[in-house]
Amino acid sequence: MKRVDHLFTGKAKTVYTTDDPDKLILHFRNDTSAFDGEKIEKLDRKGMTNNKFNAFIMQKLEAAGVDTHFERVLSDEESVVKNLDMLPIECVVRNVAAGSICKRLGVEEGLDLDPPVFEFFLKNDPLHDPMINDYHIRAFGWATDAEMQAMQEATFKVNEVLKALFLDAGIILVDFKLEFGRYGDAILLGDEFTPDGCRLWDANTREKLDKDRFRRDMGGVVEAYEEVAHRLGVEIG
Ligand code: ADP
Ligand code: UDP
Repeated sequence: MKRVDHLFTGKAKTVYTTDDPDKLILHFRNDTSAFDGEKIEKLDRKGMTNNKFNAFIMQKLEAAGVDTHFERVLSDEESVVKNLDMLPIECVVRNVAAGSICKRLGVEEGLDLDPPVFEFFLKNDPLHDPMINDYHIRAFGWATDAEMQAMQEATFKVNEVLKALFLDAGIILVDFKLEFGRYGDAILLGDEFTPDGCRLWDANTREKLDKDRFRRDMGGVVEAYEEVAHRLGVEIG
């Protein structure tokens, strides 16, 4: 399978059409962005690391019964996925308070959230991805009630599967963001699951092993992603 047309350049991935209208190629670039694209840097090996990391996680999720867009790895930095009609919504689950919830609610980073917190955000960089609720989604027609339910159920299932997977590797899954899309009548998990879109802390030291290292200029960003991959048994090549 080969790239046919360039479809879209995002902040970290480029999307191409293929000779099969039902399939796309996602190219994981080395570009790393934060603060809605205000801070951008190229980090060596990040594209390859995230491509292989994402493939590993998507396959684990499929095996656990979560329907995803993932088809196969095509090259070091590319994967083939099903062509989805993406919903403009980000689904976030939080097991531990960090990031925007701390600012919004004045809670301390590191507070355990039990039961976990689920939040919807609108995927819109110029508006800085505002938090929304089911009433906004219904009123503006961004998704149906059935689609919201499917996304929420799948996101909690992903949390259960990945919390255990990471804990076995000595890592706390603090929070993460998922995106979903329509595929015929189904709602499938799309986009990616990598340390770019979640928070991962070492279970013993609470060291940050995710994109917060980039956001906070801590250095060792890709090295941390590689450490997580190594602990999970992801083969990066
Ligand atoms: P961003 O849009 O946040 O800048 P990326 O650089 O990761 O993010 O761009 C990838 C784009 O591809 C995103 O807009 C995402 O919604 C979209 N996408 C991911 N998976 C699929 C898919 N299976 N079908 C169609 N679009 C997808
Ligand atoms: N997240 C993401 N993309 C976004 C917004 C958030 O991948 O556009 C991830 C982020 O990495 C974290 C989780 O979603 O793992 C919750 O993010 P939060 O709301 O705390 O926002 P942040 O302060 O990280 O921007």
